[in-house]
Amino acid sequence: MEEFVRGMPKIELHAHLNGSLTTNMLEELAETKFGLGSPECEFYKEKIADLRNFSSKNLSECFKIFKISHELITNLDLLKKATLLVIQKFHLDNTVYLEIRTTPKRCKEFTKLQYLETIIDSIKESQSTYPEITVKLLPSFDRARGILDAEETLEVISQLIGKFPNTIVGLDISGDPSAGCFKDYKPLLIKAKLLGLRLALHCAEIDGIEDETREMIEFGMDRMGHGTFIKDENLDLLKKNDICVECCLTSNIKCGTVKNYDDHHFNEMFFQHKIPVVICTDDCGVFDTDLSKEILYAVDTFGLDKFDLFNLCKLGIKYSFTSDETKAIITNRVSAYFQNCKF
Ligand SMILES: [Zn+2]
Repeated sequence: MEEFVRGMPKIELHAHLNGSLTTNMLEELAETKFGLGSPECEFYKEKIADLRNFSSKNLSECFKIFKISHELITNLDLLKKATLLVIQKFHLDNTVYLEIRTTPKRCKEFTKLQYLETIIDSIKESQSTYPEITVKLLPSFDRARGILDAEETLEVISQLIGKFPNTIVGLDISGDPSAGCFKDYKPLLIKAKLLGLRLALHCAEIDGIEDETREMIEFGMDRMGHGTFIKDENLDLLKKNDICVECCLTSNIKCGTVKNYDDHHFNEMFFQHKIPVVICTDDCGVFDTDLSKEILYAVDTFGLDKFDLFNLCKLGIKYSFTSDETKAIITNRVSAYFQNCKF
């Protein structure tokens, strides 16, 4: 089964750019930035070595470890390198469709506009280097950065979307789920929808925020990130509104929001409630995983067979934010792969 899953054309709908950088990639960025053997490079290599032993069971601890990639990516060349490395990693794992999400940043060296333009540029370049993988971009609002930052981000997106409507396809809200209020973002999300963006929002990542979860589902979204603590009426509402849930098994376990693979909500959502779900990595670098491994964890834990895997692929295509034409091409590739296997 491992060989089958590795070779399977896969669809990744929930991957954060910075979190997808592996420790090896971070080392490569440190070497490029500071020069091999320099004291600064050695300093970062030590920090990166600590990440290799990461075993946090706490959501706020997880957010701290993103700091290192932010510290390393301080110019547009490094950002481009990082983006290309991440796309290459997914391509090597036979991912055929990838939606990357990232919070646009600005610093002394670049503006948010340049940040997004550089990623779009990298995506374009990757399309000629790795034509087998289609890549799209979802800019994110980071709840911890607040509403003014989100307003600024939306302004930048509105400047770019006319030029790159086939690359910027959606919007994400992510970051510390206990920071800020969803309702403050509603006017911006309405504007984003008018710009033609689809919504993939992190939701119900922590327990005890049922009211906000309900508010989010009622507001509407195309896909939900995690949905870990969706229950009772919110579960019914989720189903009624045909929202696809992006399940990130290892991420949830390493962040401590789910105890172990057996307890993961993927099981009841997919099998019991027949809610559309997709298996995603979230931050494959931080959590030392990849899409094949995540699918295999689900296979081993919940006994998914090839028929289930085929259904999951079809759900991934259906709920992706790409054109019908691209969906048809990917469907053909996936179907051809499954037609050649015995069920
Ligand atoms: Zn996420």
